[in-house]
Amino acid sequence: MRREAAARDAADPLAGRRDLFAVPPGIVYLDGNSLGVMPKAVPARVARTVETEWGEGLIRSWNSAGWIDLPARVGAKIGRLIGAEPGSVTAADSTSVNLFKVLSAALRLRPGRTRILSDRGNFPTDLYMAQGLIRLLGDRHRLDVVAPEAVADAIGDDLAVLMLTEVDYRTGRRHDMPALTARAQAAGALTIWDLAHSAGAFPVDLAGAGADFAIGCGYKYLNGGPGAPAFAYVAPRHQEAVEPALSGWMGHAAPFAFDLDYRPAAGIDRLRAGTPSVIGLSALDAALDVFEGVDLAVLAAKSASLAALFVAAVAATCPDLVLASPRDPAVRGSQISFRTPEGYAVMQALIARGVIGDFRAPDIIRFGFTPLYLSHGEVLDAAATLAAIMSDRLWDRPEFKVRAKVT
Ligand SMILES: *Cc1c(COP(=O)(O)O)cnc(C)c1O
Repeated sequence: MRREAAARDAADPLAGRRDLFAVPPGIVYLDGNSLGVMPKAVPARVARTVETEWGEGLIRSWNSAGWIDLPARVGAKIGRLIGAEPGSVTAADSTSVNLFKVLSAALRLRPGRTRILSDRGNFPTDLYMAQGLIRLLGDRHRLDVVAPEAVADAIGDDLAVLMLTEVDYRTGRRHDMPALTARAQAAGALTIWDLAHSAGAFPVDLAGAGADFAIGCGYKYLNGGPGAPAFAYVAPRHQEAVEPALSGWMGHAAPFAFDLDYRPAAGIDRLRAGTPSVIGLSALDAALDVFEGVDLAVLAAKSASLAALFVAAVAATCPDLVLASPRDPAVRGSQISFRTPEGYAVMQALIARGVIGDFRAPDIIRFGFTPLYLSHGEVLDAAATLAAIMSDRLWDRPEFKVRAKVT
């Protein structure tokens, strides 16, 4: 396997991209699906934004440094990664808040329909936000949460919105976006796709799938840093019909006219609410340049290669770990998960040895594959460390069982 890994690394067209990242020495980082590694260009960009644009330019920088257009500029960079039509993505707020924006907009576009459909593999915040919105709207809607395999058959003529995360955050299972979108639309429903574990991980084709709305995260595969702004997509055919519930002044047609009544801005800009987070957007803007010129099909092929090597190495050395992810990369995101009852302690032992993944309750250890800065050699190193921890029960120590606030 070592020789095979070395050969694949030698032939890797993305190998040079690692230099764009500040990967800490001695660490194999398999958690870029949770918080991406910092691109080296970010600190200088943030320093410039803070010291020059803010420090010297002050209020003038809204125009002179282009702060006011950052949501659209960053949105355009993300749009290329997710197959969005030009001008249909804005970068703002958190994924949770953006879910609220697009779900409230979608429900208004389907008056008379009261059912929202999601699945048990969705990330809880999406479900929580939907539950809060339903209460706010007077408990007239119902949220159905079914098993991921049962989604297609649960679509019916009463459905208002199909709200799914494309890639399951625990197992990495990937929904068939074009097929489910077509089925929901044939029933007269709208679709919302959460791309938190898709954007920057493999090619997404929102326009090709005919998706209605999408949202996603800036700090995972997009490497925008902790709490980075998220993004929202509205298909061009819906943009002028969207009536934002979070109708803030930055989404107004003329924010600096200071009218007393709200009028939505044209297009995707109406999904802006308040003043953009300029420092966070600047970091994300610089971070996104690592994707410049990257063919996402090549990225996905390397992800599949890294993951296949990891699965093979773990299968050969760790009989107690149960694969929780699909083997076929066509129906999987860029992660591999295993189930093991002592998963939390196993992951702590791994982290103590410099292999960073994460744990998701109740029993999942999760490894993300970020092809821009990972090599096949590192993946084999990680598998060897995991094998030592499992075979020698190195996880079985009290300090590895103390749960931190963030897992
Ligand atoms: C990570 C993630 C989020 C995070 O939401 P925040 O509001 O940014 O905390 C939302 N949805 C999914 C599917 C995620 O994986």
